[in-house]
Amino acid sequence: MTVLHHHLDGATLLRYASGDLDEAFSVVVATHLAMCSECRRAARAGEEVGGRFLEVGDKAELSAGSFDRLMQRIDDDGAGQFADSAEARHGADGSSDVPAPLRRFVGPSLKDIPWTRVAPGVRKHAINISSATSSSLYMLNIAPGRAAPEHGHGGAEIAVVLSGAYRDELGRFGPGDVADLDEHIEHQPKVEQGAACICIVATEAPTRFKGFFSRLLQPIVGI
Ligand SMILES: [Zn+2]
Repeated sequence: MTVLHHHLDGATLLRYASGDLDEAFSVVVATHLAMCSECRRAARAGEEVGGRFLEVGDKAELSAGSFDRLMQRIDDDGAGQFADSAEARHGADGSSDVPAPLRRFVGPSLKDIPWTRVAPGVRKHAINISSATSSSLYMLNIAPGRAAPEHGHGGAEIAVVLSGAYRDELGRFGPGDVADLDEHIEHQPKVEQGAACICIVATEAPTRFKGFFSRLLQPIVGI
């Protein structure tokens, strides 16, 4: 079994369970859950999840219904469809490299994604979600060895690696690992040599980059 090193934190799981995350963020959370037997197991074993929830420090948010709602969300989003088997990540027939919660948006195959080049070595595929949200959901395909400029984020950002790997100040992120960043984190990801890194990313609408030069930089910095 693949060992993942970067997981969802209790606050994100709680918000997902209670429906507090918008669609873009929910899709990324469900994608991690589909690829991570540890988080699914934690979700099922109430005590362990309780431990993670309690790390958040807000016991008031905990209720007996939290665990039920979490399991319901996991089922609704298809993240638990093939729970506890290697098939969580791949189709039941082993032919898909797209996790189940993402398949309804991008189809069953990463190689059929219609990428658009946005910067040297960086390709992007925007995913249409409901217009009721100001967050955006997109996939990135970053060339081997490519480093992004050091940057912060205009708002919260959460990403899950689907294939390949990158490293930054927080460590190595391989398939299934989740990067749950808030606006205060500045990082400089660098994709490992050998293979492109494909990620699914949700970001809040940028609030920080308002100026003219910042907007010029947005296509680069905004990744
Ligand atoms: Zn996990």
